[in-house]
Amino acid sequence: MSRIPIIAGNWKMHKTAAEAVAFVREVKGKAEIAGVESVICAPFTALPALAEALKGTTLKLGAQNLHFADQGAYTGEISGAMLKELGVHYVIIGHSERRQFFAETDEMVNKKVHAAFRHGLVPIVCVGELLEEREAGKTRDVVRRQTEAAFAGLSAEQAAQVVVAYEPVWAIGTGRASTAEDANEVIGYIRGVIGGLFGADAAARVRIQYGGSVKPETVPDFMRQPEIDGALVGGASLEPASYIRLVEGAKP
Ligand code: PGA
Repeated sequence: MSRIPIIAGNWKMHKTAAEAVAFVREVKGKAEIAGVESVICAPFTALPALAEALKGTTLKLGAQNLHFADQGAYTGEISGAMLKELGVHYVIIGHSERRQFFAETDEMVNKKVHAAFRHGLVPIVCVGELLEEREAGKTRDVVRRQTEAAFAGLSAEQAAQVVVAYEPVWAIGTGRASTAEDANEVIGYIRGVIGGLFGADAAARVRIQYGGSVKPETVPDFMRQPEIDGALVGGASLEPASYIRLVEGAKP
């Protein structure tokens, strides 16, 4: 089963709407490469302008979070329906910064995954171990727990559609990426966990990215690994030229 490579830029809390539109002007055409899916996950406030700017391109729009309820008294939150209406395709769920700074639990991640599916959004679910967990030899336990929790209650068909981002927390924004071989090993393990839950077909179809200090020059190393289907990229996705090279690097 061949899986389409997916490069997603996670802009985090960077770029105003005007800056986002200027970025698209630079990458249009150049970051549209046959056989690679390219996604921009932008702050909420930039999404309407980006949706407009991306019209007629093959680039897809992503958000970085959503609330698990469809509506209600949740001051400051954004629902799946609100994102869908804007033309958002993907939504990052359970990024380690949300788990760390906004107290997101495995249970909330699972509720958000279900909310995404209710509204026709595709979740990019982040999992990954802390440095002390890696050093204690607990990487597999952590990614298993996070994956099982995030996928709880999904159908096999939904599970196959999820994009997982394996992001070791110690590698995010540190310049210290995992080796491609280590990332491949953990990602293969995650695929096995999904296979155990949903069967071989879902495991063969689910796309799993690596994330954490990915640079344009390291994308091909990760992409050469059989289990790795793309990258979720923070810092190196912010500059148009760098983003274009990230997408080029994933060319099959
Ligand atoms: P980084 O971030 O590429 O800046 O390490 C990755 C992420 O947090 O998704």
